[in-house]
Amino acid sequence: MKSAYAQYTIRCAEGGTLVDLYENRTEVADKPGLTATSESHSHKAVNSFRIVVQWLFFAWMIVIGIRFGLFINAIESGAAVSLTSRPPGVEGFLPSGALTSFKYLLLTGKIHPVHPAALIIFLTIVIMSLLTKKSFCSWLCPVGTISEAVHKLGRRLFGRNFRIWLWLDLLLRCVKYLLLLLFVVAILLIMSADKVSEFLDAPYWAVSDVKMLHFFTNMSGTTKVILGCFVVLSLFYKMFWCRYLCPYGALLGLTSMLSPFKIRRDAHGCTGCQRCSAVCPSRLEVHHSSTVGSPECTGCLTCVVNCPEKGVLAMKPSFRSRSLSVWAFPAVAIGIFMAGIIAGMVSGHWQTSLTRADYQRLVPIAHTLSH
Ligand code: SF4
Ligand code: SF4
Repeated sequence: MKSAYAQYTIRCAEGGTLVDLYENRTEVADKPGLTATSESHSHKAVNSFRIVVQWLFFAWMIVIGIRFGLFINAIESGAAVSLTSRPPGVEGFLPSGALTSFKYLLLTGKIHPVHPAALIIFLTIVIMSLLTKKSFCSWLCPVGTISEAVHKLGRRLFGRNFRIWLWLDLLLRCVKYLLLLLFVVAILLIMSADKVSEFLDAPYWAVSDVKMLHFFTNMSGTTKVILGCFVVLSLFYKMFWCRYLCPYGALLGLTSMLSPFKIRRDAHGCTGCQRCSAVCPSRLEVHHSSTVGSPECTGCLTCVVNCPEKGVLAMKPSFRSRSLSVWAFPAVAIGIFMAGIIAGMVSGHWQTSLTRADYQRLVPIAHTLSH
């Protein structure tokens, strides 16, 4: 009788779908032949912790959205006071404006006062990726959270997730980098200093948060169809938006290559079971690599959590050879995010310079403003 892992390996070698065997996997301690060690309990806990962090962050985004909606609703209805103040966190949904703000910072050395939180959030996430890979994508990003939930739903509905042919997968993966290139060329390279100031001082940028809110609350038929297509594609293909289309993720992937933290595999203890590669949402060949340097690695730790061999696979910084607690990576990643936001708040670069009177003047004409 062959062991479970030998069977997995044979299926893979025969061109079978190793990943299917793991799609409805249970955690390490529940696998046949594996003993529930304190390490496996810790791994299981970190996996649950990631899901809790993702949904708490998602809930926080919903609260921010509702608060901003109430604020704008009060302005639109002509109320003298709002029930809530405007939450600056809403500016996290303005990444292209944040990139323009970043260019303004490079040109002038100053943070533009209209929507400064957009830049603070953008810089915080980029620094996060420079130090802890694309941890924002797998631990905090609300779109990533939804994508993960949808692909899990797809697996329940169809019993599996599907894989796009490798050649098409490679081609489609280029799309997000092309979109990123478009933004970088248009904003960082071509846009003149005068144009940058003109954009950031214009009423359009002032109400870009309002326009974003209206985008979600008054969705056009076309937008609904496009979003519906993404949801359907994500049901079939894991992380469709993140893997192929998100330019933000492309940027974070490139900067993450400089991160000292990387998934590292101890080839001596590795049995070659390929479980790490099979569960990797980014479809990386973890079992072949001594160090995973790919820009697609999100630092989700799914491979580490599912490796059955003690201490073989770990997310470790380059400057540390000894093993590190599985909790260290999320602690550093989340710590950087919180530190970035707090730094923005205490340095006075969080609240917009726009007053309530500015919103009262601009919100009624927001639909007429363009750039
Ligand atoms: S290599 Fe590991 S940490 Fe990186 S994306 Fe794959 S499963 Fe997640
Ligand atoms: S690193 Fe772990 S999960 Fe990956 S092939 Fe080796 S033993 Fe298996």
